[in-house]
Amino acid sequence: MKFYILTLFPEMVLTGLRTSIIGRAEEAGLLSLEAVNIRDFSANKHHKVDDYPYGGGAGMLMQAQPVYDAFCSVAAQIGRKPRCVYLTPQGRVFEQAMAKELAGEEELVLLCGHYEGMDERVLDEIVTDFISIGDYVLTGGELPAMVLVDAVSRMVPGVLTNEESGSSESFEDGLLEYPQYSRPEEWRGKKVPPVLLSGHHKNIESWRREQSLQRTRERRPDLWERYLQKFSKE
Ligand code: SAM
Repeated sequence: MKFYILTLFPEMVLTGLRTSIIGRAEEAGLLSLEAVNIRDFSANKHHKVDDYPYGGGAGMLMQAQPVYDAFCSVAAQIGRKPRCVYLTPQGRVFEQAMAKELAGEEELVLLCGHYEGMDERVLDEIVTDFISIGDYVLTGGELPAMVLVDAVSRMVPGVLTNEESGSSESFEDGLLEYPQYSRPEEWRGKKVPPVLLSGHHKNIESWRREQSLQRTRERRPDLWERYLQKFSKE
């Protein structure tokens, strides 16, 4: 899978993503990251990429032309118009199921806004998906793009080793993961639940299941509702 990130801050994105597991996956050839600097496509002699919004209002907007040309350079490289995600607080809120679905793409373009956002016309022209990482406003789309690349990459076969495998993780079955413990058996007077030391796999499995249900009910009533609805339909 290849990610193309259209941004004004390529170093920020690459430095963050090339750390740890995603960096290792790129080195192993399981995925690749390319940050395309939108400023390189500015037709302005000062490499300006922003201007005032028509109609007035606070802040600056990214102009259509450099963004469009940056996108076209990627499309030309791939040989067709790729799926293009604009990271925006106005998009569908990102979740695990979307990460799974996006992991099926061979190429994905991620468009990062800055300032007050972007000229709407270029969004109409190139964007296929509008995705938000939550109901708050950040200064740029770089952190959201990194969040998306990280979550999607974990779904690419081979990126996680067996030990890191995500099969029992939160959201995999619509529930939060059960609590986990490592050595020592006792820390600051707190003991590891005895069932986990019993070696009895069936009991461990049912304890974990119970903990998962309880935790989801307590911490995420919204997920719990969804889980119950799914369960009642089956
Ligand atoms: N004026 C825009 C609005 O009200 O929707 C917000 C612009 S924001 C200051 C600048 C850029 O940050 C956006 O173009 C977008 O790319 C990114 N951004 C900010 N918050 C985000 C979020 N919650 N999810 C995804 N991207 C976000």
